[in-house]
Amino acid sequence: MIFRQLFDRESCTFTYLLGDPATGEAALVDPVREHVGRDLMLVEQLGLHLAAVLETHVHADHVTGAGELRRRAGARCYVPRLGGAPCADVPIDDGDLVRVGAIALRVLATPGHTGGCVSYLVADGGRPADRVLTGDALLVRGCGRTDFQEGDAGRLWDSIHAKLFTLPGETLVYPAHDYKGMTVSSIGEEQRHNPRLGGACSKQEFLELMASLGLPPPARIAEALPANRACGEDR
Ligand code: FE
Repeated sequence: MIFRQLFDRESCTFTYLLGDPATGEAALVDPVREHVGRDLMLVEQLGLHLAAVLETHVHADHVTGAGELRRRAGARCYVPRLGGAPCADVPIDDGDLVRVGAIALRVLATPGHTGGCVSYLVADGGRPADRVLTGDALLVRGCGRTDFQEGDAGRLWDSIHAKLFTLPGETLVYPAHDYKGMTVSSIGEEQRHNPRLGGACSKQEFLELMASLGLPPPARIAEALPANRACGEDR
């Protein structure tokens, strides 16, 4: 499997490219509109064609490149059904399987950052899944905020403990954001070292912490939410 982590410096968003070198099929997860040209060039240079664009959720901090990628490359857009994005070609639900060549992405509903958040558990060529794209549910040593877009700290705690922390400890964790220069972790590492969710942290402490963050609203939320419900094609 070809696997690449791409970055948007403005919103600190990670986009992931997954490709099957045998069939040439590729998927992008959480593309950023300003980087559609970069992403398409990489797809082409690696000898791939873009079959699918997947979102982990409807984002509030950047505008997705999904619609433009659909228009320019013919890819189909997969968006969580509960995210409220009528632009999706394929609305996805918990347990769904998205196939990209020999790569299988299993949809795990992990609500809490938003009501419609999902993670994608990735397996290649029939082998056991070895990595999970966690969106804004589980970040490296952190987690997504829960103070807008049906955010709910209790649901996020439950999603992470029931859906993610039950995966094998060696499963690699690839988040949708990082603000401190980290890139990848593992389930076991987060169980031990995540200061909000790991070790001896209690759900009550987590709820109190998330209620006390007092973060400013995302700078682009007024633009990003309506744009992303249209897959970023608001121009
Ligand atoms: Fe988000």
